[in-house]
Amino acid sequence: MRNAEFHCQLVRVRFPPVHLYVHVPLCERRCSYCDFSIAVRKRIPASDYVGTILKEADGTALSGLETIYLGGGTPSLLPANAIQRLLHELTERFRISHSAFPIEVTLEANPEDVTPTNARAWAAAGINRVSLGAQSFDDTVLKWMHRSHGAARIGAAMHALRGAGIENISLDLIFALPEELHRDWERDLDMALALRPNHLSLYGLTVEPRTPLDRWISRGATHAPDDDRYAEEYLFAHERLSVFGYQFYEVSNAALPGFRSRHNSAYWSGKPYVGLGPAAHSFDGTTRRWNVRAWEAYRRAIAEGRSAVESEETLTEDQKELEAIYLGLRTVEGLPLAALRRLPPPFAAQGWIEVSADRVKCTPEGWLRLDSLAMHTESQQ
Ligand code: SF4
Repeated sequence: MRNAEFHCQLVRVRFPPVHLYVHVPLCERRCSYCDFSIAVRKRIPASDYVGTILKEADGTALSGLETIYLGGGTPSLLPANAIQRLLHELTERFRISHSAFPIEVTLEANPEDVTPTNARAWAAAGINRVSLGAQSFDDTVLKWMHRSHGAARIGAAMHALRGAGIENISLDLIFALPEELHRDWERDLDMALALRPNHLSLYGLTVEPRTPLDRWISRGATHAPDDDRYAEEYLFAHERLSVFGYQFYEVSNAALPGFRSRHNSAYWSGKPYVGLGPAAHSFDGTTRRWNVRAWEAYRRAIAEGRSAVESEETLTEDQKELEAIYLGLRTVEGLPLAALRRLPPPFAAQGWIEVSADRVKCTPEGWLRLDSLAMHTESQQ
């Protein structure tokens, strides 16, 4: 269903627009660095999955969608007709916010799933933004990561998406890889820029417990990511991307003008969101709830008519304030100066934060130290 076709479902809603995240936990294999909530399956239980999500949706009260984000896992492993049914049924139930039209509908996709046929079907189902898990343009690196695509698939995927009319494309890249891989970060960035995506998400490699990468490091088969390399590659990306007209509007995300992710921006501005699926989080502005992580446990709970919520936390006023500071500092807009009771001295002196008449924001060097800045702020409360 295209956005134009969504039009027939528009309703005037009095609630603020809602951002809906749907977690698709299915993957064909586990990447070497990944600790996400996934279920590795050779055969994709698409009908079971969609039916379970819709059953959870039936017990969820909300109205007036502004964005839908199918994340994972690997949502692009779902057959196109399952994606179409999912989006159709979700928009039937939750409706689309009149003020938010056209809504943003994102699909996370792995390059190997993007064929011209799939891309056309996704566009017909209403997908108007694709976040492509490129990670690197170096086949050796992709193999080390246990990715199932080769570098050549990335350009072919973008071509197929554009051919289907999906112009709003984001590429994910991972930086700060172990030195022994001899990954050429400049080359990878230039390969990405040559494809002219509207948006880039850059993530530094982290070592999560119990991942293959963690085990390789424990037995000395590879090295942990290096802090200096992390800083060097992060700052290099800022320089290179700004030359090509991209703005880092958040610590890990850069976009051409007009192509910021509306869905992710809602998280960073503290807006309410609703999550469906295993491990999905929801937030109403005060209370955060999250579902059980494992697909089978989630599926069983929903099938038995039980809540899939594993736990929840209600933020105190102080916690809300701290969270707003942390989220604000992640973005290029920063914070109103008045939100910080005192500027942490080392950060101001080192040029890690910039202060204008009434706002304070991180420089790229400051973003490298965001956690430390947030801790300083916390100690002042
Ligand atoms: S495709 Fe994504 S979610 Fe699946 S294993 Fe790889 S990194 Fe994790």
